[in-house]
Amino acid sequence: MPEVFEDTPWVRKDSLVVAHRLRTYYTIKPGLFAKPRYVKAVDDISLSIDRGITLAIVGESGSGKTTLGRTLIRLLEPISGEIYFDGNDITHMKEEELKRIGFRRRVSMVFQDPYSSLNPFHSIHFILEEPLMVQGVAREEREERIYRALEEVKLTPPEDFINKYPHMLSGGQRQRIAIARAIITNPDFIVADEPVSMLDASIRVEILTILKDIQQRHKMAFMYITHDISTAKYFSDYILIMYAGQFAEYGPFRDVVKNPLHPYAQSLIEAIPDPDPSNRLRERKVAPGEPPNLVNPPSGCRFHPRCPFAMDICKKQEPPVVEARPGVFVKCWLYVKR
Ligand code: SF4
Repeated sequence: MPEVFEDTPWVRKDSLVVAHRLRTYYTIKPGLFAKPRYVKAVDDISLSIDRGITLAIVGESGSGKTTLGRTLIRLLEPISGEIYFDGNDITHMKEEELKRIGFRRRVSMVFQDPYSSLNPFHSIHFILEEPLMVQGVAREEREERIYRALEEVKLTPPEDFINKYPHMLSGGQRQRIAIARAIITNPDFIVADEPVSMLDASIRVEILTILKDIQQRHKMAFMYITHDISTAKYFSDYILIMYAGQFAEYGPFRDVVKNPLHPYAQSLIEAIPDPDPSNRLRERKVAPGEPPNLVNPPSGCRFHPRCPFAMDICKKQEPPVVEARPGVFVKCWLYVKR
């Protein structure tokens, strides 16, 4: 049996990426003499991702998904909790140390916006070559890897793209370049943050298929961040649903999507558009109301103001996370044996 954390038994200690009780807050300083206030963007999240596995992080905008992804690759530093990468505690490691253990080479991120994530003054060749130069890869090998990366993202023949600039490409082609740049250093862990949300619906499946092929071929650990569960089905093995910076439900992707337990997870999944056009007339919405302000989130369960099943205890006490059925963990009083 793999070793797990006693207080978060869904988290395997031997996984490539491990986060344990992670909290990342942003500080707001409203004025010179006013007390600083905190945006609790990630508030007690635990997860693990093995090589070759995709974990989908799903939630409405403002649920802390992007902050979580950025914290895991240490673009942000958490205020508490632990992050382990391949057995190394990287929670508070300094940049030089992260580089020394090869962390910066071994993790990568694909951003949401293919229009602003590529420097418009750099050619595709330079955009792809730069991370290899930083690593000191020899010139000949750099050329070979640039060609291979373009082929992997199906921009062929590579000669047709290599001397172009980002503005000469379509949105879908730019996102392929962003993916090629993310994989060119052969990372072990990729965070893809809403990689298709700004693209036309007609090319989303293509991009998702490319990501899936790359993830499977290279056996990477993959975190797919999205507000749209229907796009996660292409390649996700597990799902973690977040609400207002916190854990809502975690488990095997198909199992959770087929039979969600947390009321928020249920409302998210019910809101997926029905492929049957006759059913589309029925308006499907995520639970009524808005996600809370994370500077001053609701007491108890943060979902209680929007939850149709809210009980008295939900307003007063934060629910614990419990294993509601084998492998499926839920943070909700409905599943706590009392
Ligand atoms: Fe709803 Fe209560 Fe469960 Fe929160 S703990 S999701 S308010 S039933």
